[in-house]
Amino acid sequence: MDLNISDRRALVTGGSQGIGLGIATALAAEGTEVIIASRSLENIERAIVSIRQTHPQAKLFGCAVDLRDEQNVRQKIGGLLSEKPIDILINNVGGPPAGPMTTLPLSAWDTGYQGLLRSVLILTELVLPSMQKQGWGRLLTITSTAAKERIPNLPISATFRAGLTAWTKNLAKEVGRAGILVNNILPGPIQTSRLDELEKKSPDFYRSMQDETAIGRIGKPDEIGRVAAFLCSAANTFVTGTDVFVDGGYTRSY
Ligand code: NAD
Repeated sequence: MDLNISDRRALVTGGSQGIGLGIATALAAEGTEVIIASRSLENIERAIVSIRQTHPQAKLFGCAVDLRDEQNVRQKIGGLLSEKPIDILINNVGGPPAGPMTTLPLSAWDTGYQGLLRSVLILTELVLPSMQKQGWGRLLTITSTAAKERIPNLPISATFRAGLTAWTKNLAKEVGRAGILVNNILPGPIQTSRLDELEKKSPDFYRSMQDETAIGRIGKPDEIGRVAAFLCSAANTFVTGTDVFVDGGYTRSY
């Protein structure tokens, strides 16, 4: 299948590692120009080197930005947009603070809101006008199966990600006729450094997660990347306003 996005420009936030890097790699493999955004230029450069190992011709750029800092986001992403439009926006950021509801301070909720939801609102406000003008755009937000089904100790993730399900549906209805498709990917357990940390704290963690999937293993970032590349491509013409599970059958709900 030809995804037909080799002339497109994508911004992948949280693209220096894990799921974001998996998506950046999949888009780069399609010939898309990819801007990898995360806080540390050093990590971005490492990500670019790793993608170039398998895709030497990849069109890769970096943008050091803190997604929780509105002024920084407006300045950096505004600068990118003054060069040319961003056609594909991947909203992805590190996971929010975790813990039981009763122990999480209000400041942890503020942190979660700024990272998971507020950054998406700001980035979307910035990229939408040029997408509307050119009549083509793709927005994809990486949320979590926690949006649909309770995962212990992840109430902040669940709350804002359930909110993003509603946000996506609303936006998709408003911009679909302008050629802009808006979706979420809900990853199941994917092997990244975030989960490696959890495995260190509780050595049975990976086994318990893989036992809950239908196919009996944890997923890999490139398995999210390939679905993301399709959803953000010209080949996707009718999937919008929805949550797409990429979880190896982990989720129990229908
Ligand atoms: P990760 O921690 O490995 O990567 C997060 C990326 O976001 C990194 O590039 C990091 O530098 C960047 N980042 C973090 N805070 C930032 C900020 N303020 N500004 C700019 N960049 C920032 O995480 P991951 O495992 O790849 O997960 C990505 C997202 O997917 C997370 O939100 C996570 O909650 C969600 N998710 C992950 C899994 C999983 O199994 N790994 C499952 C469901 C949902």
